[in-house]
Amino acid sequence: MIHIQHNKAIKNYTTFGVPVKAKKFTQFSDIQELKEVASHLEVLDEEMLILGGGSNLLFTKDFDGVVILNQIKGIEIISDNNEEVLIKSGAGENWHEFVLYCVDNDYAGIENLSLIPGSVGASPMQNIGAYGVEIKDVFHSLEAFHIETGEVRVFNKEECNFGYRESVFKNIYKDQYVITSVTFLLTKKPIFKTSYGAIKAELEAMGVEELSIKAISNAVINIRSSKLPNPKEIGNAGSFFKNPVIKKEQFDELIKNFPEIANYPLPNGDVKIAAGWLIDSLGWKGKRIGDYGVHKNQALVLVNYGNSSGGDIYNLSTDILNSVKQTFGIELEREVNIF
Ligand code: FAD
Ligand code: NAP
Repeated sequence: MIHIQHNKAIKNYTTFGVPVKAKKFTQFSDIQELKEVASHLEVLDEEMLILGGGSNLLFTKDFDGVVILNQIKGIEIISDNNEEVLIKSGAGENWHEFVLYCVDNDYAGIENLSLIPGSVGASPMQNIGAYGVEIKDVFHSLEAFHIETGEVRVFNKEECNFGYRESVFKNIYKDQYVITSVTFLLTKKPIFKTSYGAIKAELEAMGVEELSIKAISNAVINIRSSKLPNPKEIGNAGSFFKNPVIKKEQFDELIKNFPEIANYPLPNGDVKIAAGWLIDSLGWKGKRIGDYGVHKNQALVLVNYGNSSGGDIYNLSTDILNSVKQTFGIELEREVNIF
């Protein structure tokens, strides 16, 4: 039986922690309850927001609609042999706890994605990625509830059309489906991915002699804990901007003026630019305005030190976008979902 709350403060349901209210708030823990929500709330007539861990969104004002918290739990082994395991997780499971469950059971593939906040159900939304691994590398399928018809559809990898922090659920199917479970194909014969970022150095500092997925997971946890603000202490939603990808010709011009620019050539010839480098080089890193600003260790992360509004943080992001555009001619894109 679902319960609908009105005028609910939702600050504590998001990692940015800005003070906003939702006109209506409810939650579901299985498909039956989700069906009830869909029919009882006449959601089709109201703006609706499916909420996971609230770690990739920013509310700039009170939400004039229904916020619906996904609480579908449960982890199930679908098949298991000497080589690989097919594992299904309810969308409302916590992502990092799911990673630890897999690591502890020697199911390899997502150890590099340790300590990413949020829910399993949101992981395909933007094809979460870190340290050279993306969800698409281990994704098998997902189940999603179509809000308009109430039908549950299975999406395979191709149908999700994953890209860099992208999927169909962020564009053509935006606000049409609720992801209810995700199934991953993990391996028992790990291929260790340690070449990215500071992983190797951290493994060395930890004194690791025999590589394991547990060691990699711990290394990633250590690096992230030292570099990124903990949302329980300082409000944030991780990287506020995506890394821009530009054409080789544009890059060749840019590097003449900015020879230090942090860049990563992609297999198709385009070049990925580290957005953090662009923002840092313009002096934004560590800048604080009142109760909000840019994190001191990570220029991509905008932070709420306690009492700032979503509007203030959004305006700061616009100022950063404009200054990057003015100096480098590059249009940054926000990664965080704005409401
Ligand atoms: P929410 O913020 O609750 O929702 C995000 C969007 O997805 C919203 O539009 C929401 O409506 C929609 N949504 C959520 N669940 C569902 C569902 N079940 N069905 C349909 N739509 C849904 N991201 C990375 O990719 N890599 C990182 O390394 C990374 N590091 C981070 C570090 C920090 C400190 C923080 C705060 C964030 C980081 N993020 C990172 C961003 C964020 O953690 C991920 O995007 C995460 O997957 C968001 O999950 P969530 O459950 O909190 O989603
Ligand atoms: P980092 O290791 O300091 O690297 C800076 C940037 O350079 C990253 O954005 C990364 O791109 C890119 N990069 C580094 N090494 C690379 C390589 N070998 N090949 C290609 N690109 C490379 O980054 P960080 O800030 O500490 O973050 C570490 C990882 O966690 C990154 O993968 C980052 O995406 C992820 N992260 C994501 C969020 C989020 O909210 N989305 C928040 C924190 C951290 P990519 O971003 O494309 O990987």
